[in-house]
Amino acid sequence: MKIAVIGTGYVGLVSGVCFAELGNEVICVDKLSEKIAMLIAGKTPIYEPGLQELMIRNSNAGRLRFTTDFASAIRESEIVIIAVGTPSLPNGEANLEFIQAVASEIGSVLNGYKVIVTKSTVPVGTNDQVVNWIREQTAQPFDVASVPEFLREGTAVRDTLNPDRIVIGTSSQRAANVLYELHRPLTDQVVQTDIRSAEMIKYASNAFLATKISFINEIANICEKVEANVEEVARGMGLDSRIGSSFLRAGIGYGGSCFPKDTQALIQIAGNLSYDFKLLKSVVEVNKLQRGSVLDKLHETLGNLQGRIIGIWGLAFKPGTDDVREAPAFDIIQRLLDEGAELKVYDPIAQDNFRQVYFSDETSINWCNDMWDVVDNSDALCLLTEWDCFVKADLEEIDLRMHGSILIDGRNVYRLEDVSKTGLHYYSVGRPVIN
Ligand code: NAD
Repeated sequence: MKIAVIGTGYVGLVSGVCFAELGNEVICVDKLSEKIAMLIAGKTPIYEPGLQELMIRNSNAGRLRFTTDFASAIRESEIVIIAVGTPSLPNGEANLEFIQAVASEIGSVLNGYKVIVTKSTVPVGTNDQVVNWIREQTAQPFDVASVPEFLREGTAVRDTLNPDRIVIGTSSQRAANVLYELHRPLTDQVVQTDIRSAEMIKYASNAFLATKISFINEIANICEKVEANVEEVARGMGLDSRIGSSFLRAGIGYGGSCFPKDTQALIQIAGNLSYDFKLLKSVVEVNKLQRGSVLDKLHETLGNLQGRIIGIWGLAFKPGTDDVREAPAFDIIQRLLDEGAELKVYDPIAQDNFRQVYFSDETSINWCNDMWDVVDNSDALCLLTEWDCFVKADLEEIDLRMHGSILIDGRNVYRLEDVSKTGLHYYSVGRPVIN
């Protein structure tokens, strides 16, 4: 099939590359010419394991092209996939300006029947507006479908090629048939719904996962007070098939480009219809507070942080990605700076992005080139992202190289019995303190 993908971010680029891998002819479009130039040169502007190799292979096979020429890409294609961003407005609502611009542009160049697919996460009712925005520009036939994306950054290629389910929301059987055909090699788990339900499935899924995270984090906080171990609690809970074991890892809370934005948007969607989504508001609040637990533990052990040297391992919101949007590390670092701490930080992939986005003018952060430089002479070390290099770090070496002995593990990556063999003073989340 001939497909145009509009937007070459985490979703658009991965989808485009994977649809090419399945034998389709794909043209990826972006308005940023520098991004397209990079892609044509065989370089991915984002870090996503396995993506670059797959992209080069499909480009060389002639199934994958990149362009800023929106009109030609649309005209050549049978299916147009919209994958532009829907960031938050200051009030938490989704900003639909990019979706509207793309829909109008599609309308202005449409040259015959096409299926227009919205993959971006959009509030319920948006695809009806997409129909109107296109219709305002053209009398050509088209159908619109909502096919929300569920990939996870860090495992996006694998998720796209092995999805749990494909949701196809459309009122047109013709469009549904085209999209069944497109997704047939990926899964037989297609959920066909009306458009609004498909839009809601995406928000409800993310809101539910965020709820699971905030729930286990609150259980962890209580575990710390009653001297229970949240890992054992989560294991015992997760074996119940009604609960399931995933998303029950306590930590410093969720971040990233989806959960924070989508939970806020759903609260707003409900609020606009006079529905007070109390549960989800609490989930968001708990998540904000959870980031503070790192600071609480530092205060408990070091007291005043003025002039203290604090090492930070990990800046990305999770391992496997260079995405730093809404990363918990930002809040934590900002608060440490406000309290006068001296910071040494390192992330194996996301460091440049993080620095550029949040702290390009900040001179009081020592951006280290090596994870061990962070440890040398620190009063405390805080692990904020569970990158493999940190997970596998030698605990004895941490103990030897640090000035102090405080290790704050925000992701529960180290085994308590291993830590207890060292002289480290170890705090994790919802587990007993060691030494
Ligand atoms: P992104 O910000 O990484 O990429 C969006 C891209 O769209 C950018 O490259 C931008 O230049 C391009 N763009 C914007 N307007 C354009 C236009 N008029 N023409 C051509 N290109 C244009 O965004 P993302 O993270 O890929 O997310 C895209 C959507 O998918 C969002 O709605 C997001 O909520 C949703 N989503 C994201 C993820 C994720 O993990 N990132 C997962 C599931 C769903």
